[in-house]
Amino acid sequence: MSTPTLTGVCPECETDLATPPMLQGETLSCPECMLTLRVEDVQEGRLSLRMVQVQLRDWGQ
Ligand SMILES: [Zn+2]
Repeated sequence: MSTPTLTGVCPECETDLATPPMLQGETLSCPECMLTLRVEDVQEGRLSLRMVQVQLRDWGQ
C-alpha cells in the first residue's frame, strides 16, 4: 500500500521531509531550518528541492 505522501531531503540541513502531494513549482518551508524550498521536480514520489532566496525588502526603506 503506497502512502499519499512525497519525500525529499532539505538541501540545506539534509533533514528528511515528508509532504502531502505537491506539484512542481510549489514551495514549502523546511521545519528544521525554516528555509523556503521550491519543488524543482517530482519523480516516483521523491521531491527535488531547491532553496529559494527570499528577497529581503531593504530597498525601499
Ligand atoms: Zn532544512
